[in-house]
Amino acid sequence: MTSPLTWKKFHPLTDQNAFICLVDSMGDDSSIVQAARVSYGKDKQADDIEIFKQAFPNEPVPENTFRNWEDGYLATNWLLPIDGKTYYEGSSSTDNIRKYDKLWKERNLETPVKDRNLIRYLLNHGHTTPFEMVEIKFMVQVPMDCWRQWIRHRTASVNEYSTRYTEALDFFQVTDPKEWRLQATSNKQGSSGYLEEGKGGANLSATEKAYHNTAKHLYQTRLDLGVAKEQARKDLPLSTYTRAYWKCDLHNIFNFLRLRMDSHAQLEIRQFANCMFEIVKSICPVACEAFEDYVLHAKKFSRMEMGVLRELLSVLPDGSIVNSDYHGREAKPSSMTDREWKEFQEKVAL
Ligand SMILES: Cc1cc2nc3c(=O)[nH]c(=O)nc-3n(C[C@H](O)[C@H](O)[C@H](O)COP(=O)(O)OP(=O)(O)OC[C@H]3O[C@@H](n4cnc5c(N)ncnc54)[C@H](O)[C@@H]3O)c2cc1C
Repeated sequence: MTSPLTWKKFHPLTDQNAFICLVDSMGDDSSIVQAARVSYGKDKQADDIEIFKQAFPNEPVPENTFRNWEDGYLATNWLLPIDGKTYYEGSSSTDNIRKYDKLWKERNLETPVKDRNLIRYLLNHGHTTPFEMVEIKFMVQVPMDCWRQWIRHRTASVNEYSTRYTEALDFFQVTDPKEWRLQATSNKQGSSGYLEEGKGGANLSATEKAYHNTAKHLYQTRLDLGVAKEQARKDLPLSTYTRAYWKCDLHNIFNFLRLRMDSHAQLEIRQFANCMFEIVKSICPVACEAFEDYVLHAKKFSRMEMGVLRELLSVLPDGSIVNSDYHGREAKPSSMTDREWKEFQEKVAL
């Protein structure tokens, strides 16, 4: 499928050398529905055509699919003949799906809302394989430290720039004086806040530049003496870039995004992941909405946490939930460690 976003470079970092772009994709929201419906002997494409013929007997059946690109977004909409004219309504908004759902409902037909509900059900209940029917290929240019984390996602297919074969990319990730992050005290892996202005950031950026020049010079000297590229590169820093094709199915892209959009992920890969999510949204807006609702902004609770929640909340016979009288009592069960208790408190803090 050709998207208007294809080959458009997005720059997730302040360093403009970093980029991510969509190269190609196979499938969209309708591919997820199509795959799921085969479970109960239905074929989405055939259904669509049948529905269309019933609803609009005098219209020619469109080729391939009823879902089309318009205005830069994939519209999970339907090709509808209105006022005697067939046209594509372009928007990724769920309002539009609802609007057309009404039209289809009046004709007593399968509806886009049904499709949306099915996608949401599948995602919420871990029926993952239909999401593997969508494949998306990106090209990325990423600093090496970020790439080291990225490449841990084994379910993607990767083809990377070879610095054995070709000279290393001739640029480094540059840090602005205001962008030096401080070591987090609460999370040993993370960062928190920035070095105060006037507290050495300008000097760090200047020495960074000098260091990059030294590394570049060393590398070039080795190459000029005929040293093999595979050895000449060995002292290049993590701030150098690599470039790669990265292709993955939607199920595993969601796994990547869940881990790398999380606040615990390093800022740089988080910025890439946020950007990737925007691209993915343009291809599968309904699946992405479900991902946000059931994964990204959802929390899972352990058995111990559920025990605490049950104690804190009482369910009335009519199904309504009320707060129990818990004030002033120690809520932490002995089966939970202090760390688990802290994580639980963070989870439920609104
Ligand atoms: C915040 C953060 C901190 C991290 N810190 C560290 C660290 O300190 N050290 C470190 O080494 N790593 C670290 N990682 C990497 C992490 O442990 C994972 O390796 C990485 O996130 C890839 O995740 P994944 O295995 O789910 O993805 P993928 O490799 O894409 O795999 C997707 C899923 O496929 C299945 N799968 C894939 N391959 C196999 C296999 N060979 N066997 C069984 N199942 C498989 C698993 O179910 C897996 O969840 C960190 C990751 C994050 C997000």
